[in-house]
Amino acid sequence: MKVYADNAATTRMSEKAIRDMLFHLNNTYGNPSSLHSTGQRAQEALSQARRKIATVLNCYPDEIIFTSGGSEADNQAILSAAEIGKKKGKKHIISTAFEHHAILHTLDRLKAEGFDITLLPVGEKGLISPQQVADAIREDTCLVSVMYANNEIGTVQPISEIGAVCREKGVLFHTDAVQVAGHLHIDVKAQNIDMLSMAGHKFHGPKGVGLLYARRGIKITPLIDGGSQEKGKRAGTENIPAIAAMATALVEANENIDAYIEKVSALRDRLIAGLSEIPHSVLNGDPVNRLPGNVNFCFEGIEGESMLLLLDDKGVSASSGSACTSGSLDPSHVLLAIGRPHEIAHGSLRLTLSEDNTEEEVDYLIRTVKETVEYLRKMSPVWRKLESGQQEFIIK
Ligand SMILES: *Cc1c(COP(=O)(O)O)cnc(C)c1O
Repeated sequence: MKVYADNAATTRMSEKAIRDMLFHLNNTYGNPSSLHSTGQRAQEALSQARRKIATVLNCYPDEIIFTSGGSEADNQAILSAAEIGKKKGKKHIISTAFEHHAILHTLDRLKAEGFDITLLPVGEKGLISPQQVADAIREDTCLVSVMYANNEIGTVQPISEIGAVCREKGVLFHTDAVQVAGHLHIDVKAQNIDMLSMAGHKFHGPKGVGLLYARRGIKITPLIDGGSQEKGKRAGTENIPAIAAMATALVEANENIDAYIEKVSALRDRLIAGLSEIPHSVLNGDPVNRLPGNVNFCFEGIEGESMLLLLDDKGVSASSGSACTSGSLDPSHVLLAIGRPHEIAHGSLRLTLSEDNTEEEVDYLIRTVKETVEYLRKMSPVWRKLESGQQEFIIK
């Protein structure tokens, strides 16, 4: 059996999105900046995509800036807020310890430039409270950036409430919603969101395309200088086929969102229940405030990387942390942030489901992971010490 369970890393493109992309590759090849009708057709495709997305997010079309993906949108949001802050002498930014590296590394860069960065601790369940944010805001705070949902452990933050705190205190609020767009309802106006990032490939759209929503009146700094595309906020000829296909994928996901949430949450809970039977295992993240498709466990006495290779042999595509950090032997900064010790953080497994997965696949995942954990433990010298009582279990 082949089971793709790495949907937080990326998703398969939907048939509809592929069809739409092919249509635009074939037909809308003009440059949207050209004055002739071929160019204007491309311009119309671009406007249409913008309008479709604006309807889903509940914003104005001119509040959307197309980017090359989630990372670029995150960079641009943070650097724009920093630029605005600098002009007012405000150089303090609040974020969290378990953001995506697109946020954390941008903040590192600002720190080197003299910004003061507060990374809020996230607690054992990986949740941030609006009160924590309120307490951290200072006179010189120019931005709060809290991810809507974490890509590794799936915790969903009380974004509307955090947004309300920021609005009340007059501080810009950005959220990395890359894991949420197309998966949960978003309403940027009702939720007091000033800036929001998303990426097409996390909701069955194409890779290499995303967007930054920025509320009217927020001065956005271009990261790429050149022509006046995207109202001077992002130079370069627009990727019409990808942008159009992303809009189609988002509309499609949004139309099916309630059925998606119900179906995928049920698969998730079945998988969590099955894997919880493995002795000395622990679920990472919050069982309730959790993305529909996210399952993340630590198994004591196991190396995550070896588990991934064995699972791959059995047809299972999974991940040990985020795709961006695997390949390095450092344990996940997310698992460390929720207080998992190094040796436990190394034994993590992330399985992320989509509506394409079935109950049979989930049962296969449970069986296969159980077998693999048993097999690896049998060979592990650490496990022998744990079992014989020479070393104490961390996960009881
Ligand atoms: C995938 C992801 C990103 C990066 O998006 P890209 O399109 O790969 O640049 C940023 N933030 C989160 C939470 C993600 O899951």
